[in-house]
Amino acid sequence: DKETIGIIAEEFGYGVDFVSAEVQEAIEVEEDSDTDLVTRPPIVTVMGHVDHGKTSLLDYIRKTNVTDGEAGGITQHIGSYSVELDQGARMTFIDTPGHEAFTAMRARGAQVTDLAIIIVAADDAVMPQTKEAISHAQSAEIPFIIAMNKCDREESNPDKIRTELAELGIQVEEWGGKTQSQEISAKTGLGIPELLEKVILEAEMLDLKANPEKRAVGTIIESSLDKGRGYVTNLIVSAGTLRVGDPMLAGQHSGKVRAMTNERGDALQEAGPSMPVSILGLDGAPNAGDDFHIFENEKEAQKRQQLQREQGIRTQKQVTLEELGRRIAVGEFKELNLIIKGDVDGSTEALADSLLKQSTEKVQVNVIHKAVGQISESDVLLASASEAIIIGFQVRPSGTARKLAEREGIQIRMYSIIYQAIEEMKEAMEGLLSAKIEERVVGTAEIR
Ligand code: GDP
Repeated sequence: DKETIGIIAEEFGYGVDFVSAEVQEAIEVEEDSDTDLVTRPPIVTVMGHVDHGKTSLLDYIRKTNVTDGEAGGITQHIGSYSVELDQGARMTFIDTPGHEAFTAMRARGAQVTDLAIIIVAADDAVMPQTKEAISHAQSAEIPFIIAMNKCDREESNPDKIRTELAELGIQVEEWGGKTQSQEISAKTGLGIPELLEKVILEAEMLDLKANPEKRAVGTIIESSLDKGRGYVTNLIVSAGTLRVGDPMLAGQHSGKVRAMTNERGDALQEAGPSMPVSILGLDGAPNAGDDFHIFENEKEAQKRQQLQREQGIRTQKQVTLEELGRRIAVGEFKELNLIIKGDVDGSTEALADSLLKQSTEKVQVNVIHKAVGQISESDVLLASASEAIIIGFQVRPSGTARKLAEREGIQIRMYSIIYQAIEEMKEAMEGLLSAKIEERVVGTAEIR
């Protein structure tokens, strides 16, 4: 590892120069000067509990297209779409609702979203996935706006939602807090223009800028193989301008941009910052969340692709409790992120509180998400995106979550005694964790 190499090299009188193992990261990025930067539209994700109206809201916005000025409505699914408000302000929506997709992308290092709309059905309540969505937005450090949906229904009670949010420490603006909120109906369209105005307002505060003058960079949203057309890649340009004919490297794949269309099916010659487009021309299907880069010429893109392929190694960047003490000792570790899942609310809270108290001068312990229930794939994704360790108290991971954790190198520690969890954390932070209790799955059975 890095520190040991450094120490050994020094012993022998040599210096060490570290380069990134990820070819993508080693690609030189063109520097922007302040004068090159222009305002770009915000990129928005809709998150919230199942059935609270995420899809309905996205559908409503897509269908109404917001201004009538644009000829030919949105006709194609390209993973995201761009809309314009009456005053000319634009914004881009990611068309896959929910925090799973959002966090899966973040786990690959892509932060595409600038802000989130968290939708809560006002005839229901703040639910587990509402809380999850909030945790995910907070851990990504993006602002969010609360949309209280289904306000057309008589049973709706937005004040109850405001109260429940306040209990989570989220004060909405109407009640003197900082979080913007809006009562809407994704069915009738009530409040949606106001909601979008609030998105623009929030975006103005973020002061989002990008340089449109350089070679394009951006993120893959999704890709697929089309029988007639070959690989279709949907992406969002984050900076620069993408043009037909540009040699592209996206994840493990490369090619020349052969054709480019927008969500209305119009053929485009170029696309600027925050624009969602669908392109043809890559020699494979990159993963959602992969970065793409444009090179001077095709040769360069191919060379990079070759390097990428040869470099089959994956560097382990996730933390484990065993490794903690060592990393703290060499001073490279400042924050320990934890996700705590428990069987009942009381013990989850108690465990979270006690673990938070283990913070020392050197290391800050953060609980980025705590909830009751089984350890899910979503928890593992969140852990992967925020370099966290998962603590399970009297709960276990689901089969798929366990597999995902193995693949992503996420540590899941399971305890059934609070005292033991705290003791181990203490030892780990002091670098003394020695006893190795390993749980091995020797078989699984299904209860019928
Ligand atoms: P998702 O799971 O969050 O994507 O939720 P959906 O958009 O699929 O909505 C779940 C259900 O709630 C559907 O039956 C919708 O028709 C309904 N629904 C969504 N928004 C509203 C609304 O504003 N008012 C009413 N009355 N029903 C809604």
